[in-house]
Amino acid sequence: MWAPLRFGDGRGSGSAGMAVGQREAARADLAARAGGVTPAAGELVRRISVLGATGSIGQSTLDLIAHHPGVFEVEALTANADAAGLAALAIRHKARMAVVADPQAYAALAAALSGTGIIAGAGQQALEAAASRPADCVVAAIVGAAGLVPTLAAVRQGRRVALANKECLVTAGHLFMREVAAAGAELLPVDSEHSAAFQAIGSSEAEAIERITLTASGGPFRDWDMARLSAATPEQALRHPNWSMGAKITIDSATLMNKGLELIEAFHLFPVAADRLDCVVHPQSIVHCLVAYRDGSVLAQMSSPDMRTPIALALSWPQRIDAPTRRLDLAVLGQLTFEPPDTARFPALAVAREALEAGGAAPAVLNAANEVAVMAFLEKRIGFLDIAATVADSLEAADSQGLLGECASLAGVLAIDTEARRLAGSLLKRR
Ligand code: NAD
Ligand code: MG
Repeated sequence: MWAPLRFGDGRGSGSAGMAVGQREAARADLAARAGGVTPAAGELVRRISVLGATGSIGQSTLDLIAHHPGVFEVEALTANADAAGLAALAIRHKARMAVVADPQAYAALAAALSGTGIIAGAGQQALEAAASRPADCVVAAIVGAAGLVPTLAAVRQGRRVALANKECLVTAGHLFMREVAAAGAELLPVDSEHSAAFQAIGSSEAEAIERITLTASGGPFRDWDMARLSAATPEQALRHPNWSMGAKITIDSATLMNKGLELIEAFHLFPVAADRLDCVVHPQSIVHCLVAYRDGSVLAQMSSPDMRTPIALALSWPQRIDAPTRRLDLAVLGQLTFEPPDTARFPALAVAREALEAGGAAPAVLNAANEVAVMAFLEKRIGFLDIAATVADSLEAADSQGLLGECASLAGVLAIDTEARRLAGSLLKRR
């Protein structure tokens, strides 16, 4: 069976692709090593841990789990600081462990769980311990680069990792994929476009793929002119037309930075060079990705815009389980439309592509600066158009300080992330 998600190692940065011979070797080697990890045919993964359980993806995952009583068990759940919300989920889903990242939330969590037998924990080490507990699948659904270290802890245990937390791959793609390969972990995409690509690729040979096109909804401001965009408020940006998601990714969808992050994510997940990845705006969010082959065929995956479909696949692959989503009726929908993205109004997409092509630490700087800028926009400290401008300025400043070289270690990646946040913060203030 073709294992596209174990291909990520061995590629250079930028648009350099993996040589065919290397790909074959990686495939054979990794498929062999992953043998003990993938559930045997006919068997579902059972014990699930959810990092970021209180968020949008976390809750959708737990909703699916509750929809299949007796099939899944919950091992560990984590959250940032919402002790009451996490405790309620841990009790409802009979988790064995619950961890908050914020140590100050520990007392409330421990109190809420007292007498339940559920282990309570707090802080970064406890987060890593939760991610490392024995589980068949760890759903990585923390938002932002904060998810990198705990997700890597799950990877290092050789687990199946259902990856929603795209910032892991944006920040540390090469390193992350090397760790996946070294541990024989199994990486399954949860992001809907990447889940769609994974399905459309199936068992095809990497060499047969000509192009992968991710679709973008275009977000709430698809038709807005520059004057309206410059005055756009967080409330308006948070009103996504199709998807219900956490605040950060909803803003990323409005700027189209989300699609830029997803191009970088796709570059690491799939065996294609950067110049064979692109995106098209598809306002209905029904077609999630198109994979074009050398013979002219294009395979697409369609589903209602509901994350429970790709989450269900990541939990059950190579099988499929029921997901309680609205079924597609194309006759009712009537039409599906497509248009090119407008990088003049949505420059974040172009900035992200430049970071992908530059490689090295550029994607890590892009991500960190974007996290800082999105937070500043949500707090009404900067305007909507300032988000992409801050990210572009941060990349330029990092470049002029010689910070965009390759990061060989996790410590190096974390140091660049910290430095890029500091840079972006100082550039925000100057705007
Ligand atoms: P969210 O904001 O709804 O939830 C984030 C979760 O992470 C929460 O449980 C929160 O407590 C936890 N968290 C936040 N900061 C943390 C920190 N510093 N340390 C530890 N935990 C922390 O976000 P979401 O929309 O569920 O998105 C999660 C990830 O999935 C993101 O990377 C996003 O890009 C990706 N994703 C989301 C969707 C979606 O539909 N929501 C779709 C595709 C991909
Ligand atoms: Mg997506």
